[in-house]
Amino acid sequence: MTTLPTPAPIDVTDDDDELTGFRRQLEEQLREREAFIADLDPRAAPHIDLVAWSSTQSALQVVAQINAALLRIDAGTFGTCSRCAGPIAPARLEIIPYADTCVPCHTDGTS
Ligand SMILES: [Zn+2]
Repeated sequence: MTTLPTPAPIDVTDDDDELTGFRRQLEEQLREREAFIADLDPRAAPHIDLVAWSSTQSALQVVAQINAALLRIDAGTFGTCSRCAGPIAPARLEIIPYADTCVPCHTDGTS
């Protein structure tokens, strides 16, 4: 329902509306992951259901990444690569709002 001021490329580090949008997106994804984890919880143990357990582990990792991204929004460093300190492309953040590295660092990374 917000009006977009200009079609110019977004600067996620200096645009409160854009940040609010990312924050909402992150909070929504956080709720989804937490519901997913809660749903799998009764059988999410390696000796009960390995698939549920590993799904829970990856969801927990994403939850940690989402929480870190929310902290970066508060700290004013959201959209800045944690490795090279360069900007993270908005297109990347639209797909993975909790990304903490730019594409070159991500593809170059060891993880
Ligand atoms: Zn980088």
